[in-house]
Amino acid sequence: MRILVISDIHANLTALVAVLADSGEVDGVWCLGDLVGYGPDPEECVTRVRNLPNLVCLLGNHDVAVMGKLDMEAFNREANLSVNWTRENLSAASLFFFQSLTTRVETMGVTLSHGSPRNPIWEYLLDLNTVLTNFSFFRTKICLVGHTHIPILYSHNGNGSVDWSVPQPGTPLIIKGRAILNPGSVGQPRDRDPRAAYAIFTPEESKWEPRRVAYDVAAVHERIKAAGLPQRHATRLIDGW
Ligand code: ZN
Repeated sequence: MRILVISDIHANLTALVAVLADSGEVDGVWCLGDLVGYGPDPEECVTRVRNLPNLVCLLGNHDVAVMGKLDMEAFNREANLSVNWTRENLSAASLFFFQSLTTRVETMGVTLSHGSPRNPIWEYLLDLNTVLTNFSFFRTKICLVGHTHIPILYSHNGNGSVDWSVPQPGTPLIIKGRAILNPGSVGQPRDRDPRAAYAIFTPEESKWEPRRVAYDVAAVHERIKAAGLPQRHATRLIDGW
């Protein structure tokens, strides 16, 4: 069974379409949240994702913010601007779809969470101590997260320590022990590789295949500018940072 794992689309339709074309036939889609925010195509992205086959979809912090359910003081001025613009450019049907989602689920023996299993909305898994603590906050062998926009594999050694590695695109790996994995970001990569990031997961073999696909970054850059959204979000796409 091939599961397409996507996260942090951030209203970038061009990147999302490239990923859907590149991934080929899949049996299901797991989307780890942040469908919107920063990018120029929120409505188109939500509609696309909503209609994907056998979808399991989480809310990310940007999605929750757009629903008006977060204290916006946690967002900086640019993020605030983007949240307000996004809200005005989403249909009632898309906001209704968000209402049906949660921030963490367990499916097919795998935990899915946007930020971390401990705090699905806000926590970033960026340091090994935080990661180690978070292994106590899910019961399954594997947990998939997004939020940092950085593809990574954290493996639990069983002796109270955690290793990390960056899985290489195009090289599938079999996950042996307990692990937390991040597929990276479809619509706003932050690992200095501007290509859209995603993964194909085969649950019955615990097989993880990280993938990257190039898309027309310049076209999205132009649409961000035309929408009057903060310029920095457009520039970041080109740098992949
Ligand atoms: Zn994000």
